[in-house]
Parts: sequence; C-alpha cells; structure tokens
Amino acid sequence: MNLWIANPRGFCAGVDRAVKIVDELIDLVGAPVYVRHEIVHNHHVVERLRGKGAVFVDDLASVPRGALAVISAHGAAPGVQAQARTLGLRLFDATCPLVSKVHLEVVRHARAGRRVIVIGHRDHVEVIGTVGHYANSEGDGIAVVENEDEARQVGVPRPDHVAYVTQTTLAVETSARIVAVLRGRFPALIAPHHEDICYATQNRQDAVRRLSGRCSHVYVLGAPHSSNSVRLVEVAQESGAQARLIERADDIDRDWFASARHLGLTSSASAPECLVTEAIARLQQLVPTLAVREVGVPEQVVFKLPAAVADLRRVERPAVDASAVQTASASF
Ligand code: SF4
Repeated sequence: MNLWIANPRGFCAGVDRAVKIVDELIDLVGAPVYVRHEIVHNHHVVERLRGKGAVFVDDLASVPRGALAVISAHGAAPGVQAQARTLGLRLFDATCPLVSKVHLEVVRHARAGRRVIVIGHRDHVEVIGTVGHYANSEGDGIAVVENEDEARQVGVPRPDHVAYVTQTTLAVETSARIVAVLRGRFPALIAPHHEDICYATQNRQDAVRRLSGRCSHVYVLGAPHSSNSVRLVEVAQESGAQARLIERADDIDRDWFASARHLGLTSSASAPECLVTEAIARLQQLVPTLAVREVGVPEQVVFKLPAAVADLRRVERPAVDASAVQTASASF
C-alpha cells in the first residue's frame, strides 16, 4: 500500500505567527499570558500552550488588570481593543494579516456607505470580528450569508450599492456558488480587491483535491470545530475519495481503509506537523509494508511577528540580538 502525504499541508503562516507570538510572550515575561479564544482551532496546540502557561478566555473582562493578553489569529472587533484599553491590559494582536485585510475592506465599504455581505459562518469567531468592524464604523449595514438560500433572501436597501467579503477559510467552490447567486441579484456587486479566501486555504484545498485524484481514502488531520479542517474533508469527498477527519494518530482505523491501495494524508492549516509524524508512524505500525511518499510542493510563506513583540524582546532581553526575532516578510 502507498501512503501519499499532501503538500502543502499543516500550519499556514498566519497560524504559525500566532502560535509564535504566544510562545514568545511566555518566554519573555513568563506565565500567565491570556489569550482571547483559542489561539487557533486545534486541541493539541491549545493544550501545549496551556501547559506552558497560556490562559484561554472567552472575554477579556476576566483578565486581571495589567496582564498580557493576545487576540487570536481569527481577529476581533475593534471594540475588543477598546475593552483592553479600558481594562488596562497589555494587548498583543495575533490577528492573521490576511484577516486584517478583510477588516480593512469592510471599513472601506462602511465609510463609502455600502451594504456589506459577509459570506461565512455567522457564529465563527473570525466572522464575528469582521462584522464588528462595520458596526464600529457606521452602524448596522452588514449581513452574513452562510449558503445559497440565504444569498437569495438577504435584504439590501440599495442593490447598486453592495459589496461582499468572505470568511478566509471557506471552501473555494462554496464561496463561488454563493457569489454567483448574489451577483445574479446584484449585478453591480463589488468584489474584494483580491479574493479573500486565503492562499493557504486555497493551496490546501488544491492539494487535497489532487490527493483525492490518486487515493481512494484520505485522512485529514484537524479539529472538528476548525472550519478549514472540515472543508478539506468536504473537498476530498467532492473529489471522489472517502475522507475522514481525525484529531490524532489514535483515531486511525485499519478497517476503514482496508480496501485501499493508495491512502492519502493531509493536515489542516491549524494542525501542527508533529501530528502528521505521529500518524505516519501509526500507519507504518498497522501496515509494515507501507510505502510513504510526498506529493506536491511545500509552501515557503512566512509572516513577520508584530513590532510590539520585537519591542518587548528588546526590553526584556536587551542582550539578545533582536534579529533572533523572525523578520522574514510575507511573499505578498
Ligand atoms: Fe491566515 Fe489563511 Fe492561515 Fe487563516 S488560514 S490564519 S487567513 S493564512
């Protein structure tokens, strides 16, 4: 049996940056460091950071005055920053730069008085933060649509004055179908400058689609409450493979892929590489003759850490060369 490992897979630059921010803050000032919501949607990552001294909270109101707090990679409404100031917190923003880009789009549309439609899951932390950017600017002018039915029904006071943005981790095809419905209703619909679905989401979906072309069964490592993980399973299934979401190597079931000659493995943007290593080891235990092969090309994108983290390092560790803080730039 062949095991094909997808590339790219695993941590995207936004998740990698967010996790490094929390690691770095704990290394510099010690525990506790408070993090608003899960820094990324992955139990393994959250538990590792919790063991090191991160405290995850739903609301900054529960954070002691003067403490360090971090906004997760999913971002937050501007009201959260104002709340942090009121509470006297030292706030570090780990919002992915691509999510911040969507926030800027929303603010721009709000200033122009346009109605904004957010394509995404209305209960997702990222979408709540995105909606908050409009409310903060102009008030009630933004709506969320989750599917094509909602796109057919969403009310717009001025059909010639409407724009859309999307949750970054949506399936590309899902987003395109919803946009097509909206465009049918509102021909003047304004699209984002660049598609909001991020490079990492797109690349991982493309990779799992290719994997599903050669593999009858595909395992996706990720968390059930992670949008990008669930989407990878859907894309694999839509591409003709049987696909399962697993959180750890222990979830691998030999019976499930017993008929497979080619088995696929990938991991979501919020799943660390150590889980892939564990899964490969487990599969080699179960199938001693397994031939492990990589397919595709890994990503090389890195987002630099916020200047505030580098500033803190200079204060806390003046003897350490500031260049130790990662400063590579994103490739776009
Ligand atoms: Fe940023 Fe994309 Fe990663 Fe989300 S999936 S954190 S938008 S790079």
